[in-house]
Amino acid sequence: MYSVRVPVHIVDRPLVHDALVTLRDKHTTPEHFRRAATRISVLLAAEALRDVPTTTVTVETPLGPAPGRRVGTDVVVVPVLRAGLGMLDAVLELVPGARVGHIGLQRDEMTAVASQYYSKLPARLDSSFVLMIDPMLATGGSAVAALDLLQRAGATTIRMICIVAAPEGVSLVERHHPGVIIYTPVVDRELNEQKFIVPGLGDFGDRLYGTV
Ligand code: URA
Repeated sequence: MYSVRVPVHIVDRPLVHDALVTLRDKHTTPEHFRRAATRISVLLAAEALRDVPTTTVTVETPLGPAPGRRVGTDVVVVPVLRAGLGMLDAVLELVPGARVGHIGLQRDEMTAVASQYYSKLPARLDSSFVLMIDPMLATGGSAVAALDLLQRAGATTIRMICIVAAPEGVSLVERHHPGVIIYTPVVDRELNEQKFIVPGLGDFGDRLYGTV
């Protein structure tokens, strides 16, 4: 048995579930899968960024000055390759000025152990609001490896957005990175022998890019 406690933030919104069921449906084509991935990622990212620091500004409307707020901190988005790329445009739509890092992790088909093959991260992560995006939190092995890397690079404020989580993955992240809040719409039932999430949605990267 795995216990699922904080730091999971379940994003339970009608539009999130509408997009999620499209992603789960095995009949969804890559085109519609990509669209639903973008839709759900916008909603999840908005939630993960709901308390991002802002600064007060004043702009001139055609009718005079108006007070407002702008994102007041450096936001860094880090997709975990390759599936995380399916969520990137959505986050950049919300925070166009965000800097982007990339982490490439490959899951061994037999052992499900993640090994790093690429990493390029922006400088000064210690003062950044870091959003790691990885749609499937399965065993948690790759998430923990990516979070380790971010922490070694200096990141202190890290949030992780995923689209489907498994209890095992949540548990592992919680154990290794208790300060990281996970944003997800669901924690599914279990992992199968191949370490796929059940019921899940299959291989996210394959469905996104039509490589099945
Ligand atoms: N990665 C996927 O794409 N799907 C899973 O179910 C688990 C890991």
